[in-house]
Amino acid sequence: MKSITTFDLQYAHRFYGFKGEAQYLHGHTGIMTIEVEDTVNEGVNMVFPCNEIRKTAWEVLQNFDHALVLREDDPLLPAILGVYKEQGILNGHPQNTMKGPAFKSALATAYPDARLVVTKETMTVEGMIKIVYDLLKDKLNICKIKFTSGVNAAEMEFDTHTGIDRCPLCGISLNEEGVCPKCGYRKK
Ligand SMILES: [Zn+2]
Ligand SMILES: [Zn+2]
Repeated sequence: MKSITTFDLQYAHRFYGFKGEAQYLHGHTGIMTIEVEDTVNEGVNMVFPCNEIRKTAWEVLQNFDHALVLREDDPLLPAILGVYKEQGILNGHPQNTMKGPAFKSALATAYPDARLVVTKETMTVEGMIKIVYDLLKDKLNICKIKFTSGVNAAEMEFDTHTGIDRCPLCGISLNEEGVCPKCGYRKK
């Protein structure tokens, strides 16, 4: 069985070097669906609580929301950094509060203070799925991610690595010591 959660993200990007309109900076509302697969946890009669999927995934996804996503070799990047620096907003601003924790992976680096994500590859819908799966695969038993942005959509299925112990009282993953981080339940 699956637990399914959907997010929407407002972001700006461009396809650097692409021969079409998308080489110009533009924005989207992207819709991402994350599916988590496992047996039904008998204690809570759920696969995984969707609000907990949301909490875990949003830590990563928040970095893309109201953010600019640029490829690492895009010449717009130093230009934007220069303007933000001159304006004094490169390293944050008191009103820039809806930030996720910074992340760095082989595919992308988030700079929440500047609401910027720098990617290794062009951030197409396919590219976004690869980035997000890589950042969440050890935290959630993800079997599918779908991402839709404008007329573009992609989805990818993944082999689930079962064996994540879940709390029979809350349904969320137990930590390495076999303890529920929410209610303190301890695996016997
Ligand atoms: Zn686009
Ligand atoms: Zn619990």
